Amino acid sequence: MLRAGRLARAVRAVALVVPAGCRDPGAGGPAPGDGRPRVVATTTMVADLVRQVGGERIVVECLMPPGIDPHSYKATPRDADRLLRADLVVASGLHLEGRLTGLLERLADRVPFLAVADRLPAERLLEADGGLPDPHVWFDAALWSEAAAPVAAALADIDPEAAAAYRTAAEAYAARLRELDATLRQRIASIPAERRVLVTAHDAFRYFGRAYGIEVVGVQGTNTTSEAGLGDINRLVELVVSRKIPAVFVETSVADRNVQALVEGAAARGHRLGLGGRLYSDSLGGPGSNGESLAQALETNAAGIVNALAPEPEAASP
Ligand SMILES: [Zn+2]
Repeated sequence: MLRAGRLARAVRAVALVVPAGCRDPGAGGPAPGDGRPRVVATTTMVADLVRQVGGERIVVECLMPPGIDPHSYKATPRDADRLLRADLVVASGLHLEGRLTGLLERLADRVPFLAVADRLPAERLLEADGGLPDPHVWFDAALWSEAAAPVAAALADIDPEAAAAYRTAAEAYAARLRELDATLRQRIASIPAERRVLVTAHDAFRYFGRAYGIEVVGVQGTNTTSEAGLGDINRLVELVVSRKIPAVFVETSVADRNVQALVEGAAARGHRLGLGGRLYSDSLGGPGSNGESLAQALETNAAGIVNALAPEPEAASP
């Protein structure tokens, strides 16, 4: 019994390493005969959305593991195979998956395909550098809630018997996101107006800024594949020094070197710029993290932002 218990624990320990957004891709999908529709999502945010709507009726696989930058992710030959064998492929879209775009376009002719951001109301999209739509739509919880219904419709197309269940789950999840939207707005409003500035590694947070009333400045632009120049860093040093911004933020899926350069630049000007912690940006967290679902990630981000930017509580008098 002891040995069996140990083995079970060991198996569980290994299982814990498998990211929640991406259930065991190594085994090549569910066991044969499972019978449930197999949906492949590109990013962890999209995998979460599909899972919220499909629940246990479907099997969701995610191409990109937690912590991976979708702008620069390249498909492996096995990814192409997994995509081709899917019953439905769901992408984020608006060129977020920069290096997968060609593959996804070719695939759309052969496998049922949905790019969720393409289904959002065009008038609510922001423009990124170069005039293209900004792909980081999941940071506006109310806007993202509008992606639930198209996912339900796509699932209903491949599994018509469960159409009503998908629609009901999508409506419930959209309602939860709208509630979260109101909560996030309240939290950010608790930061004094002059300190409501979010300086981050790359410009992923424009939708967050617009939705929740915080000015957003990215060191690197909307696409992580462009490099920040020295001029950009100097411009940002000027901004944080002149507005006495207490902290900048690093992101889970983007390199920290630009943020470090900014902290050093501010120090050279006599301004102590703290690190406000790590924000979930273009990827959710792994299992057991405080950002395993999009709702958790948005709440964790908001708490970190409020902690870092709201003034220190007054020291208690002796
Ligand atoms: Zn991004």
